[in-house]
Amino acid sequence: MPLNPSVAKSHVLHRALAYEPQKIVSGSGISFTLESGKIVYDASAGPSVSVLGHHQPEVTQAIIEQLDKIAYVYSGSRHTCEAAESLATEILKDAPGGLVKAIFVNSGSEATDAALKLATQYFCEVGQPKRTNFIARKQSYHGNTLGALSVSGHESRRAYYQPWISNNVSFVDPCYSYRAKGLSESNEQYVERLKLQLEDEFLRLGPDTVAAFVAETVSGTTLGCVPPVPGYFKAVREICDKYGALLILDEIMCGMGKTGTMHAWEQEGISGPDIQMIGKALGGGFVPLSGVLLNRKVFDGLARGTMVLAHGHTFQAHPTACAAALAVQKIIKRENILEQVVRMGDFLETELNEEIGHLAHVGDIRGRGLFWAVEFMRDPNTKTPFLAEHNFSNRIVEVAAELGLNILGNLGKTGKIDVELVILAPPYIVKEDE
Ligand code: PLP
Repeated sequence: MPLNPSVAKSHVLHRALAYEPQKIVSGSGISFTLESGKIVYDASAGPSVSVLGHHQPEVTQAIIEQLDKIAYVYSGSRHTCEAAESLATEILKDAPGGLVKAIFVNSGSEATDAALKLATQYFCEVGQPKRTNFIARKQSYHGNTLGALSVSGHESRRAYYQPWISNNVSFVDPCYSYRAKGLSESNEQYVERLKLQLEDEFLRLGPDTVAAFVAETVSGTTLGCVPPVPGYFKAVREICDKYGALLILDEIMCGMGKTGTMHAWEQEGISGPDIQMIGKALGGGFVPLSGVLLNRKVFDGLARGTMVLAHGHTFQAHPTACAAALAVQKIIKRENILEQVVRMGDFLETELNEEIGHLAHVGDIRGRGLFWAVEFMRDPNTKTPFLAEHNFSNRIVEVAAELGLNILGNLGKTGKIDVELVILAPPYIVKEDE
């Protein structure tokens, strides 16, 4: 129901300036209820967030207990709280991939900014201050703050803010086999081509000026749940190691269980990243929380110097958010929910292929675990895409909403390749009949 913004009733400035969004009044399990009384199945868990659904008494209880103990702790240098300490211990138990330290912030974008700053500070502390360049990927998204946007190859989100965006970032091609792998090219040849391109970029910049390569392990909104071609991240890790740069993996959207393992990189045959961002499923949306994980090398490097992080936020490691996330992570572990993610992911894959795989404009169905996308093509046989102005995926999202299904559409013009897709990332607790 388009409205002229000047007559919109809400005092909240919504993202959609031209119309008022519908009010959600309650939620339970994987569905939520609109003000009109309509019940909507949340097949994308918001933007891939509400992994335990929209109401979880155990998490509510953990939040209340935390508020009864202490509402707010300033996690600057003098204080911390039990909830943050326990959450970090829970996530980093057994040092997955060598990750040993966690910083908790409020949003994914803050986590990306923190990761970029920590990488920069690390190289200052280890005596390589010239390493200020970052290499990221085209058609990528790592957040909306200006640092995060600087490493995001997302044309329409960057467009207005170019004067604020860092010039220290260059972009290479993403690993996107459906559209970018040559017809006669094998996976190995494709990986080799991307590896050479990355290496060329290191050499062009001067390898001793590169701080890190930044990528999502499984690309989320910009390309649509694209798992990397086997061997891709091994090749990337090799190049980073060869030139002494850090590997920063963004698992804000694809991580914390969504692909069937706690961390998506566990399926890539690499030892792990140097720095990793997490968010969304970390706290399941009960209270905002994201984070940055560091491996031993990065922590030791940082600790060599002033012993102070030149970074922090008033609300970092908020006790209520950490208590909620701790409850979420404990439920995921206790109930073996990742096994369910794998089983339901297989079910979703089969259903998508059987039910819609044959339809006229379905080009590709891809994903992992409970993180799936359908990419639409004007002509799937010739891989002729819809153009952004066809607005195809947003029309699908609207029709689905009318039918009572919430799914995510694409993020507008993200780069040269027009990608029309929808994402299904249902809560981990979803059942077959749902
Ligand atoms: N990185 C990725 C991969 C994301 O998908 C997002 C959000 O969609 C972000 C970073 C930014 O997170 P936030 O919206 O919490 O700032």
